[in-house]
Amino acid sequence: MARTKTLAALSLGAILMAGTALAQYPERTVTMVVPFSAGGPTDTVARLIADKMSADLGQQVIVENVGGAGGTLGADRVAKADPDGYTVLLHHIGMATSATLYRSLPYDPLNGFEYVGLVTEVPMTIVARKDFEPATFADLVSYVKANADKVTMANAGIGAASHLCGMLFMSAIETPLVTVPYKGTGPAMTDLLGGQVDLMCDQTTNTTEQIKGGTIKGYAVTTPARLDIFPEMPTASEAGLPGFEVSVWHGIYAPKGTPAEAVDRLSAALKVALADPGIAAKMAELGTSPSSAEDATPAALKAKLEAEIALWRPVIQAAGVYAD
Ligand code: ASP
Repeated sequence: MARTKTLAALSLGAILMAGTALAQYPERTVTMVVPFSAGGPTDTVARLIADKMSADLGQQVIVENVGGAGGTLGADRVAKADPDGYTVLLHHIGMATSATLYRSLPYDPLNGFEYVGLVTEVPMTIVARKDFEPATFADLVSYVKANADKVTMANAGIGAASHLCGMLFMSAIETPLVTVPYKGTGPAMTDLLGGQVDLMCDQTTNTTEQIKGGTIKGYAVTTPARLDIFPEMPTASEAGLPGFEVSVWHGIYAPKGTPAEAVDRLSAALKVALADPGIAAKMAELGTSPSSAEDATPAALKAKLEAEIALWRPVIQAAGVYAD
């Protein structure tokens, strides 16, 4: 009898505790690590959703920029953070490409995190400083081939989307260029605007305003079809590089071992943010759209990461580019 009572009391305690944990998370600020500099495209995506996620969670989601080494420093910071739901990572396609680009990583991209959900998929654009000579994409290719020793191409380090896109561009035109790495394409854009670097391939979340304002030149988009925001701009495929396609998908991760209730709560807040019409409208202006509710889930992000590691591995191996 006494034993039954004790067991009943214990299980009631467990239920209350589980209920309390669910009801209480989050009790304080959640840090969203962006593995690139402030002011760049990944940062833009994070800041777009952070406010709405904060409102839904009832706690601030603050963005912390941990740039360097193509996004791997920020990813490592989150891989090693306490798995308590208060530190998350918003990363992009680099989570998949760095798995092959780096000979060894200090974390396991596939098994070292909990998955929260997909956020958005962003097209890229091939852009140049505004006074760069070539007028069209075809001119750009001939000019770059003829001036390979002079042309410089910015990127956000090995493993970054701009690095992957640049590498695909150089390999498609069979012309290696001098690359200039930054901690993110936010600062790279500053140098492109200032004319210190010639070329870059970057997300529309960083290039749209400048292309429209005429402060940089846009040559091509990297999607299979033209974009509504740039109806005049050709796709790289139609402009002479068939099959040249890259889209930068973004996901949110938490350190391995983060309690399921925290992960589920974050995923629910992500869905709320992505369903917000204001966010969808802002994303549309930048050439993208929010992920669907089905994609803003742990299972969808895991499946995407697995598929993208498998997709890019042979491409990267064929290009033979590695980092230590
Ligand atoms: N666009 C960058 C990249 O090349 C990252 C960034 O600064 O957001 O991956």
